[in-house]
Amino acid sequence: MRGRSAPGTDGRGSVNDLGLQFDNSYSRELEGFFERIRCAEAPAPRLVRLNHPLARSLGMDPDSVDRDMLARQLSAGEPPADSDPLAMVYAGHQFGAFSPQLGDGRALLLGEVVDTGGVRRDIHLKGTGPTSFSRGGDGKAVLGPVLREYLVSEAMHALGIPATRALAALTTGETVMREQPLPGAILARVARSHLRVGSFQYFAARRDNVRLRRLADYAIRRHHPDIVKEEDRWLLFFERVVSAQASLIAKWILAGFVHGVMNTDNMAISGETIDFGPCAFIDAFDQAALFSSIDEGGRYAFGNQPAIAQWNLARFAETLVPLVDPDDPDRAVERLTEALGGFAGLYVDAWLSGMRAKLGLAGEEEGDLALAHGLVKMLDGKGIDYTLFFRRLAPASTGRTDSVRSMFADPGFFDEWFDLYLERIELEDQDAQARLALMNRTNPLYIPRNHKVEEALAAAVEGDLCPFDRLLEAVTSPYEERRGLTEFAEPAPAAFGPYRTFCGT
Ligand code: AMP
Ligand code: MG
Repeated sequence: MRGRSAPGTDGRGSVNDLGLQFDNSYSRELEGFFERIRCAEAPAPRLVRLNHPLARSLGMDPDSVDRDMLARQLSAGEPPADSDPLAMVYAGHQFGAFSPQLGDGRALLLGEVVDTGGVRRDIHLKGTGPTSFSRGGDGKAVLGPVLREYLVSEAMHALGIPATRALAALTTGETVMREQPLPGAILARVARSHLRVGSFQYFAARRDNVRLRRLADYAIRRHHPDIVKEEDRWLLFFERVVSAQASLIAKWILAGFVHGVMNTDNMAISGETIDFGPCAFIDAFDQAALFSSIDEGGRYAFGNQPAIAQWNLARFAETLVPLVDPDDPDRAVERLTEALGGFAGLYVDAWLSGMRAKLGLAGEEEGDLALAHGLVKMLDGKGIDYTLFFRRLAPASTGRTDSVRSMFADPGFFDEWFDLYLERIELEDQDAQARLALMNRTNPLYIPRNHKVEEALAAAVEGDLCPFDRLLEAVTSPYEERRGLTEFAEPAPAAFGPYRTFCGT
């Protein structure tokens, strides 16, 4: 544990008995952007899982920390010393319709800690009980979805996709009513920040340009300190967010991830994946893949995600109009529109460069985009397992084609594309072994497959965490093939049927 230090002039508290040194810039600098909250104590908080490496990076010593004390403090009934629990306000477009008043309805920001790498991190608790933004909800979370977010967010991190991280999962000792009584739970998660597109929409909708500017300047100080002094900083800030989102969504698509509820209140300014509700990874490649039970129109289907991200960014741009040019809104709109127009190119560049790596291509050739589009066309809607395809393509690129070719009901589709791929490989300087190695460190073998996630969560709710731990172990080292983990590399059995996920559970 680090040595204790007196509260500094920089606003940091002392190192508390968890080993955390809070430094709460949001509550210090943004009075009026949140509501302080005091939670009721959970009846019997119990730590279910603690993420040791992440805890260590925040200053905690996971091996010596008192687990009961940690559970009491992370359930917010007995908040950690120098934390400042608060519910953030925000608004948001939900399935396209604007809600001017949202906010943390079942979550709170405990405070911020600067990690061992010097990065400021929010510690956020989900499921701590109602706030004044709960809109009639109970403010609670239950064990299954909490563990689901734990698994999926840690898998995303291991895949190199920016995402909030899971610090700990706990049960509260309370029974929470959903369709049936379920064990109440809390997820402690960590993010670069919880600022959302919806945070800006809240103040824009109220025409509160003073607070809007304070929020934007706070976000710039926190995420892009190199532009704080720029006269055009708000436009530059917008460009940075556009670029971070283009890169993020490309990574989702490359990994086969469907967020499921890309409302503007679930889009983080930091470029991290946030609010894992009805998310899922695709098995079979299908642009129309959709798992969320509430997304009847398919708004947030797999292949729609880049377009939706751009739509959300347009809503973000609208909020910045009064900052970008207070005297000439038309000019501001023009400049923001131009910046937004950059999204498509940035997205395609990020996707293509990721696709090159998936295909084991070290160089760049003019025909690469056409080759990648040909691949999408070949896979789309034919029931081909997306993750396995790339793992099997790797040996095919060295001559062993059987396992990948046999995935196709009509191998003619594959042969046609594969000939073009072989021609392309001829242009590479790289040797076959280097290509194979590149493909196997780019294409995961283990992803959180839906049937395995469901199996792990069902067992966990019955008190057996072994399947959860095994799946977590598989997906947090997703590239390295290990003995005994074959079941995690296989598609769902046909009997699993179509998959449905649920929001806000
Ligand atoms: P989500 O789709 O999980 O991002 O939630 C959308 C909004 O609904 C957020 O403002 C949440 O705080 C709120 N919310 C979701 N579930 C609950 C709940 N059980 N109780 C209170 N508020 C909730
Ligand atoms: Mg949300």
